[in-house]
Amino acid sequence: MQYPNSLVARLYKARYFANSSLLEATKGGSPSFIWSSLIETQDVIRRHARWRVGNGNKIRIYYDDWLPDSINRRISTFPYPFMENATVSSLLNDQGERWDEDSIVNIFNERDANLILSIPIAKTKREDELFWPEEDNGKFSVKSCYRVLSTVPRNITEEKWTSMWNLWLPAKIKNFFWQACTQCLPTADRLIAKKVNCSKVCLLCNKADESTLHAFVECDKAKACWNRIGSSLSSVGHTSFSEWIHNVFTVLDKENQSIIIVICWKLWFARNQKVWNNINIPPAIIVETARNYLKDWKESTRAVCSTQESG
Ligand SMILES: [Zn+2]
Repeated sequence: MQYPNSLVARLYKARYFANSSLLEATKGGSPSFIWSSLIETQDVIRRHARWRVGNGNKIRIYYDDWLPDSINRRISTFPYPFMENATVSSLLNDQGERWDEDSIVNIFNERDANLILSIPIAKTKREDELFWPEEDNGKFSVKSCYRVLSTVPRNITEEKWTSMWNLWLPAKIKNFFWQACTQCLPTADRLIAKKVNCSKVCLLCNKADESTLHAFVECDKAKACWNRIGSSLSSVGHTSFSEWIHNVFTVLDKENQSIIIVICWKLWFARNQKVWNNINIPPAIIVETARNYLKDWKESTRAVCSTQESG
């Protein structure tokens, strides 16, 4: 992207996005492996890259990230229908030398207007540039992209998250699950990274260091639970818990997805019982209590729903 005329960029552009920019491209009929990976990375780039305003010709006012606000770089004012596809150049004066302040104040809410007017316009007219705020020099690099990728749940698209989020489960379990997928549970590796003085070994199996992936996938305790529910859930070859859950969810229906999440929750409870009270909860009990919990919860919510319907 930094070098749009490189040979690879030109080949891909010719084949897949003749009339659009890299960030707007979608998967074509038979996307190559590299291209598929690029599209996945594209989402991350789109969220983190930012436009530097030059002549404003390339930046779409309402659909691009161009405001100097690290929380939300998009315009928050609802667009007038006739302006929907307008570019930032239409907000500059006729000579393109400065912002058209009167129009901006009239069109946008106060927050948007203030942010727009805080962006300096260069006297020398230059093209708009996409830059990468993760690096000091603004140049996109695979290394920094990888760093960003490693902080977001890998291989889980927003669509997938939404479908998980819509599973019929109590909010506290969904929150727990979110923490697990984003590596925010206080597992030993996380605690040690935060300089907490604790053992790095998993106390449930004493065989390996404790991480989210280990606790819910690789640990003997976890494997024994997954064996009990009869699913052939492979525990090898995954790099993160969220990657594992993504693969598992691809082959399971909603009912089984829910039970997997509740078992993870009960596994975490068993882990805490071992760590804090030295109580050992066998896999059979973990799976059984998870099944009963889900059944009871569904029955109680069903009862509430039917009372509301009849009342
Ligand atoms: Zn273990």
